[in-house]
Amino acid sequence: MQAFIAARKVGTARPPQTNTDGPSSGGSFAMEKFATALEMVTEMKPEGPVFAARPHAAGRAARWFIKNFPGEVAYAYKANSSVFLLGALYGAGITQFDVASVAELEDAATIPGVRLHFMHPVKSRYAIRRAYFDYDIKCFALDTEEELQKIVEETEGAKDLELFVRISVPAKNSRVPLEHKFGVTGQKAQRLLVKTRQVADELGITFHVGSQTTTPDAYGMAFEEAKKLIVKAGVVVDAIDIGGGFPSRYTDSVPARLSDFIDVIKASMAKMPVTEHCRLICEPGRALVAEAESLIVKVDLRKSGNQLFINDGGYGALFDSAHMGFVFPVRLIREGLDPNEPLEPFEFWGPTCDSIDRMKGPFMLPRSVREGDYIEIGNIGAYGRALATRFNGYGQYADVILQDEPMYSIYAEELAPVARNA
Ligand SMILES: *Cc1c(COP(=O)(O)O)cnc(C)c1O
Repeated sequence: MQAFIAARKVGTARPPQTNTDGPSSGGSFAMEKFATALEMVTEMKPEGPVFAARPHAAGRAARWFIKNFPGEVAYAYKANSSVFLLGALYGAGITQFDVASVAELEDAATIPGVRLHFMHPVKSRYAIRRAYFDYDIKCFALDTEEELQKIVEETEGAKDLELFVRISVPAKNSRVPLEHKFGVTGQKAQRLLVKTRQVADELGITFHVGSQTTTPDAYGMAFEEAKKLIVKAGVVVDAIDIGGGFPSRYTDSVPARLSDFIDVIKASMAKMPVTEHCRLICEPGRALVAEAESLIVKVDLRKSGNQLFINDGGYGALFDSAHMGFVFPVRLIREGLDPNEPLEPFEFWGPTCDSIDRMKGPFMLPRSVREGDYIEIGNIGAYGRALATRFNGYGQYADVILQDEPMYSIYAEELAPVARNA
């Protein structure tokens, strides 16, 4: 594991994912550990934004999924490829990764003993060839006959392929629906299943209910759709990959319990027209890493009442807040803060010159927030770091590890002996 981390320090040292020379990290690979965000800002007084990873939270999430999900658990690499979190997931037992590009598979392939799934339904011919011949990847997704043809040609008619037909399913209570871009339905899907069966060693069906899906019935409906297609196509299916979509918790999005999702998935799987040997796979991104990373920002200006200009924004790790309206949990990090100070709604502006670099929130913070204060923005582990750009010269981050608990943890709630149905 140490060698893997050492290798990845070099391998992923490209901005902005794992920046090594951010303003406050002094050119060294900063992975200092602190008990809390307050301890970190007191000691480092960081000028730039800081990613504060809580690897123990990613490890806990992975262990929960491995224990409770009735099948195999892969991690969707795109959600966050921080070495700290990957290390924690791997350490907890995640050895399968869902990748979507040559860059991702090259990166993920440096992790020892991994099994990679190339689950993007549209891949370049070059990517297919590299994946199969250079990285020994057998597992591919597709949603058209054209893509099937590409896979057959570029693998030179390989006989050991695991091919997953991506079907389109309704996006119910999903914050980020995906069904319009990918997935095949109806007679086209039946035909594709039959054709894929003819060339695949293992035939799979896969779907994605949409990211941040807050109710488990979305999975129930997706299984129903898969079941209909299997029966109509009359094919033997060897694997079902239910994708990601599992929720995390945000200030404006409180999902059903994860165990309710597991219950629906077990009940649905039991009704599928497949044998007991059929593999069941999930590939969560968000749910495994969302609560395992915070962003610590500094207030550069308080303007006209409750508008805070902070040093990261919509072109940085707060893309989902600026463009999808996510309200992340926040707290003021200041020595000697009065815990009883009343909270007020604030909105954030990012550091770039663009007027869409705005996060409306509302973010509830103590009314005394002022220039120079630090704010922890929690649960940005999924798609925060991953979406940051270097626009306007911003988007450079220092990295630290925090040992305290995330601002919200759906896993701490799952593991709590009481407080259920409260
Ligand atoms: C993005 C993606 C995932 C992960 O989705 P989450 O909503 O983050 O869990 C899984 N599988 C595929 C194919 C994806 O594109």
